[in-house]
Amino acid sequence: MEKIKFKYHPNIYEDDILVHENGVCQCCGKKVSEYIEHIYSSEDVNCICLQCVSDGTAAVKFDAEFVSCAETVSDLEKNDELFHRTPGYLGWQDEYWLACCDDYCQYLGRVGIDELKDMGIKDEVLEEYVQREDAYSHEVVEEYMYKDGDMSGYLFKCIHCGKYHLWVDAN
Ligand SMILES: [Zn+2]
Ligand SMILES: [Zn+2]
Repeated sequence: MEKIKFKYHPNIYEDDILVHENGVCQCCGKKVSEYIEHIYSSEDVNCICLQCVSDGTAAVKFDAEFVSCAETVSDLEKNDELFHRTPGYLGWQDEYWLACCDDYCQYLGRVGIDELKDMGIKDEVLEEYVQREDAYSHEVVEEYMYKDGDMSGYLFKCIHCGKYHLWVDAN
């Protein structure tokens, strides 16, 4: 079976937002071995297959969103794709999806300072990050941000200009 792809969440199969357990999709009723349980809906939904996320049927059926918050993008179709047809990510706080070039970025995964150093982009993304409103300071992030620590980084990449962007949250 061909794997479903998400434009804004290309690494979904390596990400812990995807639950690898047997379940029954509450939208299409099919038995599945991987599903999304991280859903914002007033209804009690906790098992949606990737197909029903990707084609938007679950969002419509349960008046649901999969992402909590994002930067502003002018195209409403892109907005619809992110909130209603893209799985979110797990952080200490609710998602905050970054945008660039008037489009949402691809979410690549959780990172710490070590991962950013390995990629050679630590200074570039930190310099940009600390300019953001309410950002943690450069010193704090540099000292405490670990991939799976009490302060985590979330790495994004622009689909258009290729620039990396960082979001940080903490326990
Ligand atoms: Zn389904
Ligand atoms: Zn860009």
